[in-house]
Amino acid sequence: MEKVIIVRYCEIHLKGNNRGYFEKVFQENLERALRGIRHEIRRPSGRYIVENFDESRADEIVARLSKVFGTHTLSVAYKVSADMDSIWSAVLAVAPQDGTFKVQTNRADKKFPLDSMQMNAEIGGRLLSANPRLKVDVHDPQHVVYIDIRENGTALVFGAYVKGAGGMPVGTAGRGMLLLSGGIDSPVAGYMIAKRGMQLEAIHFHSYPYTNLQAREKVEELARILSEYTCGLTLHVVSVTHIQEEIHRLCPAEMMITLLRRFMMRIAERIGKKTGAQCIVTGESLGQVASQTIEGITSSESVLERFPVLRPLIGFDKTEIIEISRRIGTYETSILPYEDCCTVFLPKHPLIRPDLAEVERAENKLDIEKLVGAALDSAETLRLS
Ligand code: ATP
Ligand code: MG
Repeated sequence: MEKVIIVRYCEIHLKGNNRGYFEKVFQENLERALRGIRHEIRRPSGRYIVENFDESRADEIVARLSKVFGTHTLSVAYKVSADMDSIWSAVLAVAPQDGTFKVQTNRADKKFPLDSMQMNAEIGGRLLSANPRLKVDVHDPQHVVYIDIRENGTALVFGAYVKGAGGMPVGTAGRGMLLLSGGIDSPVAGYMIAKRGMQLEAIHFHSYPYTNLQAREKVEELARILSEYTCGLTLHVVSVTHIQEEIHRLCPAEMMITLLRRFMMRIAERIGKKTGAQCIVTGESLGQVASQTIEGITSSESVLERFPVLRPLIGFDKTEIIEISRRIGTYETSILPYEDCCTVFLPKHPLIRPDLAEVERAENKLDIEKLVGAALDSAETLRLS
């Protein structure tokens, strides 16, 4: 009796002609998630079967695959030959010990001697006589024993569906540059957009030595957690210390954040153009803080030449964002204390509704090209997987 894992996918079937492509990317992502674990993946029809693995690692495989976007549900199943005796021994291995249950058979092989209703009755009856603590409840059972009789002379028997991450396979919806701070929001934004199939690269800006090395380690850890969902993640770490010092020296104090944001956008777009990205992704949510007003957003994105900015959290409340960050495992890291570069030289009264003309006038005092160039020279690139 061999243990296998059934992986069922989500919206991929909606994609008509592109179906083959989506399935190929999805399978590559499944393979990638299982790197380092011996296994084989087959695709009989409409789902994937992982087999030939060390059975003591089944839970680990399920945990990894449930994070692959595109995965709808998974089941650990027994694969047996499609005869009564073999199916019955697999049923005994997955059957509950007490409570209410029903048997649900799917018979793809119409040559199997019993039809699905007869099979449900037969196996249900056998379970009842084998275990007096069990009761049948076909409407609202505590447990279900699933029997899937395939056309190729095998049957899959399992007792549960595990929920997968949902969404679309990463790599099927373009590439984006995620502005990754050490806060709560941007990792969640990255998760949300990767869930729609976007491949991400992350970029983090620091103001070392005003910000410390722990701040950087924290961002690396966030990127690592995120990389479990994003099929690996490249992290660019860029210094903006010299930019903040120049803004501090030459521009009105209340414009620090407004101007710094514009530099972040420019730098992200420059790096993104080189690496084949097509847009910028941020964790902004409308009105959450002073810089996230529509005027602030207009000011920061007006410096972009070509890239649109995607803001998957724009309409979310902080409590909703926190809920997701807890679920995906970034929250505990995000709340560690640290200095963001935006808190260095933080003005007492940041501009809430920056006027674009005034911002551009203030910025004229800066040698933008030189500052951006120096930031690009400082960039370090790490690969997390
Ligand atoms: P977060 O929780 O993501 O830090 P926030 O609520 O603190 O967001 P801001 O600090 O105003 O909001 O930042 C808005 C967005 O700008 C962030 O979500 C992130 O995408 C980007 N950002 C801010 N600081 C940095 C940074 N140091 N490096 C990279 N991106 C940043
Ligand atoms: Mg922040």
